[in-house]
Amino acid sequence: MIDIANPSARDRLTRRLGAVSVSAFALMLSGATATAQPAIAAQDLVIHAGAVIAVPGERALGPTTIVVRKDKIAQLLPGYVTVSDAPVLDLKDRTVLPGLIDTHVHFSFSPATRNWSAAIDTPEDVALLSFSNAKRTLEAGFTTVRDVGSDGYAIHALRDAINEGTVTGPRIFLSGTSLSIVGGHGDMSGLNRKTTEALFPYDYTGACTGAVECALRVREAAKYGADLIKITATGGIMSQQARGLGQHLSDEELSSIVSTAHSLGLKVAAHAHGAQGVTASVRAGVDSIEHGTYLDAETAKMMAARGTWLVPTLGLLDSHDSADTARITPAVQAKMAEARKVSGDNIRLAVRYQVNIAFGTDAGVSPHGENARQFRKMVEQGPMTPMAALRSATVDAAALLGQSDNLGTIAPGKFADMIAVAGDPYRDVTVLEKVAVVIKDGQIVARSAD
Ligand SMILES: [Zn+2]
Repeated sequence: MIDIANPSARDRLTRRLGAVSVSAFALMLSGATATAQPAIAAQDLVIHAGAVIAVPGERALGPTTIVVRKDKIAQLLPGYVTVSDAPVLDLKDRTVLPGLIDTHVHFSFSPATRNWSAAIDTPEDVALLSFSNAKRTLEAGFTTVRDVGSDGYAIHALRDAINEGTVTGPRIFLSGTSLSIVGGHGDMSGLNRKTTEALFPYDYTGACTGAVECALRVREAAKYGADLIKITATGGIMSQQARGLGQHLSDEELSSIVSTAHSLGLKVAAHAHGAQGVTASVRAGVDSIEHGTYLDAETAKMMAARGTWLVPTLGLLDSHDSADTARITPAVQAKMAEARKVSGDNIRLAVRYQVNIAFGTDAGVSPHGENARQFRKMVEQGPMTPMAALRSATVDAAALLGQSDNLGTIAPGKFADMIAVAGDPYRDVTVLEKVAVVIKDGQIVARSAD
């Protein structure tokens, strides 16, 4: 992965973008206060936007010129400014906003992936599937994702290829394999022992027992390129493990994972459904709770006080065909029925107690490319304002990623990741489901036909 804080890596990134430095010329802005500083250069991309939500959570700007230089936002100027040589992207009838961020996806699988796919598919198959899922996600306006659980290293290769410019896709921050207990959600279940042990040795799946071994798994993940650590603190709904949704990793294991990860500068995302597992994870100091299905008021208050994030993944239970008996086995059915009873409680409590909420869909379990459908669910179930829902997928998601300096708003110096939509997302959040233009790293990477 290109470390954007590393100067030589940044040079490489700049060279790759083919940007050539030429003498910029000064553009005299109106009035006596105009300076000689070059405002727009011929190589810049100039965007004329009818409206701009530069900082989600704040008021939208009216007609604005956005100047993109190489892969960064250079400046925002009121009104429409042109320079004869600079190409202009006319979005006067669109609202431009920061590229969206989904903090909970799994590119290495899709709803069509079977429980036994890992016994059939090669790593190359997984890499191509991951690429295809990444492409759909980018075209839907999500210019950054957090991949929180993709086995193997296809996803690492994809992240690096995207950062190097070999292929086009969203910016990926990844955990690699989830850490879980032996036989937990994240460890392979449902195949016979011989097959399981041949295909999924524990050091490959991330299963660990005890503080020492769990610390080892964290260090291994860091060694092989993880950007964060994902754990499955409780049982999970879609795995074939039949031990319910209660706490899996012990308090001691959770503490070891969190302190080891934090000592290496990595955040910890904890998949947690059962209340006790949610509470234990928050107490151990994880950075985000994924799902939080049985979140209770006490834990919500604790999360708000500690600044722990909730990634609510509201589409989790909607996208399954119960006739799909190969996947929705009796073990899975029982867990789905249990979770349905409290559907929506997580986000309602989070809104009520002002817990930090980051947008995350669990795409992979739900279809890739339909990520934006979660906005309306957040508005309906939270209830969140459209503004708050949009913030959760931009400013707030960037904060969870530790990328507030680079992503989440349209401001000079930030990566030029932007989308354009018809209409005002502050009035109708569903306009985000149909993105007209996607710009990533200053390049137009997707554009709808109309
Ligand atoms: Zn997930």
